[in-house]
Amino acid sequence: MARILVVEDEPAIAELVAINLRHAGHEVTLAGDARQAQLEVDAVLPDLVVLDWMLPGQSGLSLAREWRGAARTRALPIIMLTARADEPDVVAGLDAGADDYVAKPFSTNALMARVRALLRRKAPQALDAAIELAGLRLDPATRRVSRRMEDRVQEVRLGPTEFRLLHFLMTHPERVHTRAQLLDRVWGDHVFIEERTVDVHVKRLRDALSAVQCAHLVETVRGAGYRISEQASAASA
Ligand code: CA
Repeated sequence: MARILVVEDEPAIAELVAINLRHAGHEVTLAGDARQAQLEVDAVLPDLVVLDWMLPGQSGLSLAREWRGAARTRALPIIMLTARADEPDVVAGLDAGADDYVAKPFSTNALMARVRALLRRKAPQALDAAIELAGLRLDPATRRVSRRMEDRVQEVRLGPTEFRLLHFLMTHPERVHTRAQLLDRVWGDHVFIEERTVDVHVKRLRDALSAVQCAHLVETVRGAGYRISEQASAASA
């Protein structure tokens, strides 16, 4: 399930896109113009944005360019909706920072396929694919975490926040994430929660993982944040 922001001023199109995304299991927020879209993004960073080019006031193109210029939104996956399928316009859209575009009028199936492809590429934590790292297996569909031990598979019991945290770390391995980034991406809120909360849940996650000798996979990077690494050595934990 992904958090998707749909920025579109035509209510009929916005509603059609929202219904299809919700039907696919996503959580959808709507914004009618760039200002409202910015407010939504300030509150909760979405996993993906469907952004209409032609909006009243600031255009979707200009908004995409702004997001690409800001550290927090630089990597935000964006699909641009455009009535302009002419090549120079498509190039301008991609130059402004859109990852992909769909020309209006579009088939909802085509849009959904683009959404799936972009999530797979840029926001794998929002998808249901099972992942494995250093023998640890996490399956979002069944919400199960397990590790194959010598002759059996042992399950790890995690609370919902620890599960989401582990899911995010496993889908973005080897990279260091600051506490603020984890609040943004895992909690969906970077403003109202203290960064210390992250430490509390990392500790709980490690405690749970220690039952299958995997606590050391979650590394503290001093002065920076946390990462999950296949190369982490058990000795340094
Ligand atoms: Ca429009």
